[in-house]
Amino acid sequence: MNDIRVRFAPSPTGPLNIGGIRTALYDYLLAKKHGGTFILRIEDTDQKRFVEGAEEYVIDALHWLGIAPDEGPRAGGDYGPYRQSERKATYGKYVQQLIDSGHAYYAFDSHEELEQMRTRLERQGIQRAKYDASTRMDMRNSLSLPEDEVKKLLDNNASYTVRLKVIPGETISFEDEIRDKVSFSSDELDDKILLKTDGMPTYHMANIVDDYLMKISHVIRGEEWLSSTPHHILLYRYLGLEGSIPKFAHLPLLLKPVGKGKLSKRDGAKFGFPVFPMEWNNPDGQIYEGFKEAGFLPEAIINFLAFLGWNPGTEQEIFSNDGLAKAFSLKQVSKGGARFDFDKAKWFNQQYIIHTEDQKLAELIATDIKEAGYTVSQEYLTKFCGLMKERVVTLKDFLSAGSFFFVKPDKFDEKTIRKKFKLENKDHIQNLISELSELSDFDSAELEKVVKGYIEKNELGFGAILPILRIGVSGTMKGPDLFSTMELIGKAEVISRLNSNLELFKQIKTENQA
Ligand code: GLU
Repeated sequence: MNDIRVRFAPSPTGPLNIGGIRTALYDYLLAKKHGGTFILRIEDTDQKRFVEGAEEYVIDALHWLGIAPDEGPRAGGDYGPYRQSERKATYGKYVQQLIDSGHAYYAFDSHEELEQMRTRLERQGIQRAKYDASTRMDMRNSLSLPEDEVKKLLDNNASYTVRLKVIPGETISFEDEIRDKVSFSSDELDDKILLKTDGMPTYHMANIVDDYLMKISHVIRGEEWLSSTPHHILLYRYLGLEGSIPKFAHLPLLLKPVGKGKLSKRDGAKFGFPVFPMEWNNPDGQIYEGFKEAGFLPEAIINFLAFLGWNPGTEQEIFSNDGLAKAFSLKQVSKGGARFDFDKAKWFNQQYIIHTEDQKLAELIATDIKEAGYTVSQEYLTKFCGLMKERVVTLKDFLSAGSFFFVKPDKFDEKTIRKKFKLENKDHIQNLISELSELSDFDSAELEKVVKGYIEKNELGFGAILPILRIGVSGTMKGPDLFSTMELIGKAEVISRLNSNLELFKQIKTENQA
């Protein structure tokens, strides 16, 4: 391990959505590329927004996707604890250091007082009221109040927050790995709260202290955090840690598939695709389906997500996990938003299914088959996957598109029957069924020889016979090679289906003519 240490720092306020997973993936890829360490840190200082089960979910999802952290609450590591709520005692020292050096101050304002300030400023035409150099002296804090009053308040355990004292009139710049040089004027920054009334640090404070203590080399996060970064730079500076400022990379937004704006969890329901990696049972009772339940392979999601905002600069699209790590570079991440294209996700999944071994696919769909009430051998399932895999997009499609491998079809492509089935051929078909039932080797090559031989000998035309046999076996025109399908389904079942369905087709045809 070297000194490349990249952290993923979600807040457990709900399930990790696909945007969060992309951030985690880029963290992972950068760490892997350099032989560094991928760290999971749970940022749970906001206890009001804490959601039971969210941390478990994050960790399970990362494991399922094959990007498990090297260090974290479950994996352990030398820089723990990895949950901020368990590090509460760590932050006090840094907050105190900022107060002692005059870079932070106590603020005693109540909710009402803050509200009043807002209303007062709004009346003056200031829309977004800020607690900053222009307003702080009108408020109740250790900068505005006499020293003895401050002391009294503190001695009497008055409730307080600690705020960062931002000095106006300076430009704060940093190099972003994706956006190059980014500058903010400190005039735009408010005096951020660093320590809350409950004694917990805020995100800003805890994030900086932990990135420093955990020796984080790169901070990769969503674009929405870009405007917090100047505050973070100030914190490093005021703590005397400027030499430890990590490299920053702010990722482009994930955009809706169509229209304007950021992809939201409501878009999933609206457009009919998952926005979470795995199923999530929301505390309000709502269940969100995940990519996993929708039949996606984790490798396909990873490949898809890697390309949402990054590209290797070549035509290559299919990458293994290692291949992605080798090719990945923050410099190739785009600044502009990346549109979430579900069709592309499906394309990746299809490609990955085609390239997955039949036996592995059989293992992956075994539960679905069992839950549908079908009992077949592992060997049967493996062959089935081999026949079907080029015809499916998700793992779910195996069963929905190939159910006739497990049960006699009860629906038929009647349109094709009406079009292709000639009543005068019914005896031929009956003869053909008899020939097939004589076969001792019911394998695809033999079946093909017999069927095609019969058609040619009788000059019937393939189009008049093959569709009828196909629908007779499977109910549909959609399916893998007819003869391989027959071989797998097996002689007794194929002959029985053909016999009973031939009767049915005659009826369909006669009704049609009547
Ligand atoms: N806890 C923040 C979040 O939920 C982390 C942002 C960061 O990576 O600094 O996204």
